[in-house]
Amino acid sequence: MSNFLTTKWDVIIAGGGPAGFFAAIRCAELNPNLHVLIIEKASQTLGKVLISGGGRCNVTHACFDPAQLITFYPRGGVELRGAFTRFQPADTIKWFEERGVKLKAEPDGRMFPVTDSSETIANCLREAAKNAGVKVHTGTTLLQVEKNPKGGFKLEVRNEANVLPLQTKKLVIATGSDSKTREIVQSLGHSIEEPVPSLFTFNVNDKRIEGLAGVSVENVTLKMDSVTTRGPLLITHWGLSGPAVLRCSAWGARILFDKKYRSHLTVNWLGDYKLEATLEILQRNKEWTENARKKVATHPAFSQIPTRLWKQLAQFIGDKNWGDITKIEMRKLAEELTAGQFEIAGKGQFKEEFVTCGGVKLSEVDFKTMQSRKTNDLFFAGEVLNIDGITGGFNFQSSWTTGWLAGSELGNG
Ligand SMILES: Cc1cc2nc3c(=O)[nH]c(=O)nc-3n(C[C@H](O)[C@H](O)[C@H](O)COP(=O)(O)OP(=O)(O)OC[C@H]3O[C@@H](n4cnc5c(N)ncnc54)[C@H](O)[C@@H]3O)c2cc1C
Repeated sequence: MSNFLTTKWDVIIAGGGPAGFFAAIRCAELNPNLHVLIIEKASQTLGKVLISGGGRCNVTHACFDPAQLITFYPRGGVELRGAFTRFQPADTIKWFEERGVKLKAEPDGRMFPVTDSSETIANCLREAAKNAGVKVHTGTTLLQVEKNPKGGFKLEVRNEANVLPLQTKKLVIATGSDSKTREIVQSLGHSIEEPVPSLFTFNVNDKRIEGLAGVSVENVTLKMDSVTTRGPLLITHWGLSGPAVLRCSAWGARILFDKKYRSHLTVNWLGDYKLEATLEILQRNKEWTENARKKVATHPAFSQIPTRLWKQLAQFIGDKNWGDITKIEMRKLAEELTAGQFEIAGKGQFKEEFVTCGGVKLSEVDFKTMQSRKTNDLFFAGEVLNIDGITGGFNFQSSWTTGWLAGSELGNG
């Protein structure tokens, strides 16, 4: 302990998550003479890594074009554009491979360790930090930061019941979405975009989807306020989930927060089909003599809509055969298919990945170095910034990238 208190730290990193570890390892590897310390308030480091991706850790995404990669970030994409030209998923793969951890891509692009165990990632990071000479103190919470007039920082940390002073030349804040650290960040002259949840499912109580939990549609278009998203949709016991919904929650995070998670949702179950084109197909279906005596309810006109869902969407037509439906019914069905109106009645939890949007205002940070534009020698990395990605490994990727950039500057500086 005394060593920990008396050492003249070159770099202290607050937060032993993926961003903090990457910053620490990078700067210590670049400059082995630096005294680098991670302080972590929990009893163990890398807590979120361990529970991530359902215990498998979705480390990154197999998307190697920075211009395309940034489209997966509702907030932070613009700022990450340059950052990804310096450290992107291909570099993440290489970084882990060089340290003995192979990653594999799933068909949807998500990348996991071949062991399918998040412990592989946590162990690799801990080992790399140890090898680079990074010191780690768990159970140590950053409480306060004061800038020394002559440079460097005076920190106040809590370790068990004690409040202790620490000194460091440079400070990295990588405390994730921790609310208390935001006050510290504000005390250092930074503004905070108010944090609100991102990536959640929609609670929808509607007869048309009742009893259909588990039914999915491969490509829908959702419209909520000014937000439009596309992709697979999954019906759950409580409403709607799946990539299209999660994207909608991420891009609409602030709108939905302001509306207290109550809003209209328009669902195009046919993806990009327009009303008129849908009407034409329905009309052809009706005119097709073989169909005339088949029930509408049990004979969907579109193969992409599962029969159970079709039956409930077309419920208002009752027991009629295709040959007997009226023009008005056909239009109503086309409207139901291309612009079904639903009410979001609350937000559910997406268990695999929980993310908040909000954090340190991005214009106050230099994304070449991750250094504060407000306070010298202060750096930020990871989710403490107003950056968030959609599900699929993008959130870890922004932590690896921003941590690596901060570490590079600290190690070279
Ligand atoms: C259940 C779950 C599953 C997820 N799965 C994935 C996934 O598979 N892929 C993906 O890309 N993203 C995933 N995410 C998101 C991802 O975990 C985060 O984006 C990422 O962990 C952010 O990294 P970070 O280092 O910025 O913050 P964190 O991982 O939150 O680390 C910050 C650390 O700082 C510590 N800390 C906070 N305040 C203080 C303080 N005052 N003093 C000292 N220490 C402090 C915290 O205890 C924490 O350990 C998941 C999130 C959750 C919750």
